[in-house]
Amino acid sequence: MTSVADRRIGPMEFLLGLRRRGIADPAVLRAMEEVPRENFVRADDAAVAYADHAMPIDCGQTISQPYVVAYMTERLSLAPEHKVLEIGTGSGYQAAVLSRLAARVVTIERYRTLAEQARARFAALGYDNIAVVIGDGRAGVPEEAPYDRIIVTAAAESIPRALVDQLADGGVMVLPLGPQDGAQIIVRLTKTPSGLFRENFIGVRFVPLLPGKAREL
Ligand code: SAH
Repeated sequence: MTSVADRRIGPMEFLLGLRRRGIADPAVLRAMEEVPRENFVRADDAAVAYADHAMPIDCGQTISQPYVVAYMTERLSLAPEHKVLEIGTGSGYQAAVLSRLAARVVTIERYRTLAEQARARFAALGYDNIAVVIGDGRAGVPEEAPYDRIIVTAAAESIPRALVDQLADGGVMVLPLGPQDGAQIIVRLTKTPSGLFRENFIGVRFVPLLPGKAREL
């Protein structure tokens, strides 16, 4: 007999759950359906990959909860011609979802190990429109700026100035803002001629956006 606790959530139930929680954009749902989440979690977690919570990955980091990935992606309002910058590659899962909805994704990670694992995952899946950069994402990736969209998947206490500078006019940035151990919220910033327009959304829990490239691997 299987108990409710160890019942596996499959891809169909996964999509229904996202819909039930309010994810409505068909393109976002299609991207969530297309990307095999089991490829982005640790081998031991493959069977529970579609459970709606964050999971540990290497280097003490986490792969984000599917609902939060879908939610932030939906808030970005991506178009097929967009160039997107992601800060915090982690497992590569969020970047993979973005890559199904935009022309090009540049993602930056401070741990070389995570960056290389993500590159291998993208290659295995044939996702060839993602560039993985190793470095401090707080400085953005100026070589490829401006970006139509920027998403930050680690929490910062304040909005990194370099990222605002690298956002195209009319561009949108979605990020978790708040203290490391306190209340963080998803914020959307739109770059308008008269300045940044800010909207506050749901409360979340992300690992911190840390300074510098990781010294350890
Ligand atoms: N988007 C990821 C979730 C990553 S967790 C996924 O889909 O799996 C946040 C990641 O941000 C971690 O891997 C962490 O190492 C990275 N990170 C934290 N601070 C950073 C910085 N300053 N520059 C680049 N990456 C950073």
